Amino acid sequence: MAFHVRKSQGLYVKNNKKFLKIITYAPLIFIPIFVFLIIISSYEVYSVSFESSIKNLETNFLYNEKKALETKVNNISNLIVFQRSRIKKELLNRVKERVYMAHEIASNIYDEYKQTKTKKDIKDIIITSLKTLSWNKGESYIWAMNSSGVHYLLEDKKMMQGKSFRNFQDANGRYIVQEENAICKDKKEGYLWDTFTKPEKNYNAQYKQVAFVKAFKPYNWCLGSAEFLDTATKKTDKFLFNLISQIDKLKHHYVVILNSKGKLLVDNKLPQFVGKNANITDKLVVKTISDFLNNIKGKETSTYVYDWQNLVTNKIEKKYAYLKRIPNTNWIITSGIFLSEIENEIEKQKVSMIGMYNSKTKYMFLFAVTILLISLLISFLLSRKIKKYFTEYENSLENKSIELEELNISLEEKIQARTSELVKLKDNFEKLATTDNLTQLHNRYSIMNILEQEMKRLKRHDAPLSILMYDIDHFKSVNDTYGHDRGDKVLSLLSKLVRDSIRDIDYIGRYGGEEFLIVMPNTSLHNAAIYAERLRQAVQEYSFEELGKLTISIGIAELGNDSIKSFFKRVDDLLYLSKTKGRNRVSY
Ligand code: GH3
Ligand code: MG
Ligand code: MG
Repeated sequence: MAFHVRKSQGLYVKNNKKFLKIITYAPLIFIPIFVFLIIISSYEVYSVSFESSIKNLETNFLYNEKKALETKVNNISNLIVFQRSRIKKELLNRVKERVYMAHEIASNIYDEYKQTKTKKDIKDIIITSLKTLSWNKGESYIWAMNSSGVHYLLEDKKMMQGKSFRNFQDANGRYIVQEENAICKDKKEGYLWDTFTKPEKNYNAQYKQVAFVKAFKPYNWCLGSAEFLDTATKKTDKFLFNLISQIDKLKHHYVVILNSKGKLLVDNKLPQFVGKNANITDKLVVKTISDFLNNIKGKETSTYVYDWQNLVTNKIEKKYAYLKRIPNTNWIITSGIFLSEIENEIEKQKVSMIGMYNSKTKYMFLFAVTILLISLLISFLLSRKIKKYFTEYENSLENKSIELEELNISLEEKIQARTSELVKLKDNFEKLATTDNLTQLHNRYSIMNILEQEMKRLKRHDAPLSILMYDIDHFKSVNDTYGHDRGDKVLSLLSKLVRDSIRDIDYIGRYGGEEFLIVMPNTSLHNAAIYAERLRQAVQEYSFEELGKLTISIGIAELGNDSIKSFFKRVDDLLYLSKTKGRNRVSY
């Protein structure tokens, strides 16, 4: 049992050492590997995102530049639209105010002279007064006409004075005099957009103008004034174009506005060609202008890529243009960028991004190394701690195991001691059970048992077996004379004497009070008789101290075809025979 424990403990310790090794070095290996993998994967993620941002830079930058270009063009277009709507509004107010002023002058004159002067005189005074009113070098003035279209103003325009223009048609074929009279009649006042000739200019050339008319009740006149749109816008357009020409002046991004006929209205880069389309000698400029017009034909906006000389590099490079029609005008605005410049800018940004990436990577690397070192340190400390715990645990286990072993050994010794004690006890008990206490010979139970065994054994071997039975003669008188104790002593002494005289193979037992049985294996009746005689004589000659002499009577028998009972009875009878024959003799 002890051996078994030691062996299994050895195996356990061996396995435990392996496990300890694994658990000690596992953090040392796995934590840094884990940290390393995290670092590598985050670096991968970072570099992939960097690559994609480089790619995005290319597409986004070009997109943004194009968008910026569009936005710039749209903003300028919106500015022009706003400016022109403002001019129009001012124009409308201005024309209306002029007519209102004329109406007030006429009303005042009429009110002043209606009692004192004739109708014709008053009319003349009014007309004379209103004639003085003129604007824009005579382009705008006040007119008055009656319901038949007869004009009473315009001394400068002699051909109109006093004539009816009832059936005058403008460039669009409208009977504008009739329309004006209708407004005065129906609405008392109102605006009218039409076309009209300019003074001092070709009669056939008509220009867009806005007219305002108001009824003058006393003479049923229709007072009016008008202003040409181009006159109204010319001044502000000039200012606006000047302003637009300043846009991107310092960059080499052109801003060009041209009208539908290809006349340059604004060119911040080539101001020498503005307003001189007919005289442009530069064939490339002329070609590009016509290309622009062709490109936007039928569209509101368009984009166009063409070759143009880059003044910075002095090379012919691709240029990207965005074109847009300005609403409510016949103008087209365009601006463009050199694609090579965008590419250069992208390259520049790329270089700066790569620089940033590299320095970031350097920091990341340093950070990663630091983290790795820290993780190594932590895993080292952790391993040591684990190892310490396990070693302590193992030691305590080993101590326990040694204790157990010692306990086992002592237990074994105890068991052995207890076992030998038990064997001794068993022997004692056996002896007690089979030995007669006084004589130390076999007791009756034991000797009868032996006889039975021997009878069986010798029958098997076909060997002779004899038994001898003796009884002390007149023993009663010994007890009576010397006391029971002395009797016991005699019994003991005699037993010793007889036991010493028998062979080692013989057995002797106390059968009753002072009757004894001797079992003699391998002994014939003849030999038994010799021995019996010798015993009888020995007892007879022995001196039992102060008691003197004693004799015994003996019966002997050899085993025949006997049962134990009949065999015993035979020897008992023979003993009895010796008694009856006078004692101290052997019968067989
Ligand atoms: P005999 O055998 O010659 O006929 O006469 P005896 O006096 O011996 O008669 P018997 O054998 O019948 O008597 C046996 C006596 O032995 C009776 C008893 O007093 C004595 N005796 C029996 N057992 C013991 C014993 O254990 N111790 C002592 N002291 N005496 C015993
Ligand atoms: Mg007797
Ligand atoms: Mg007797």
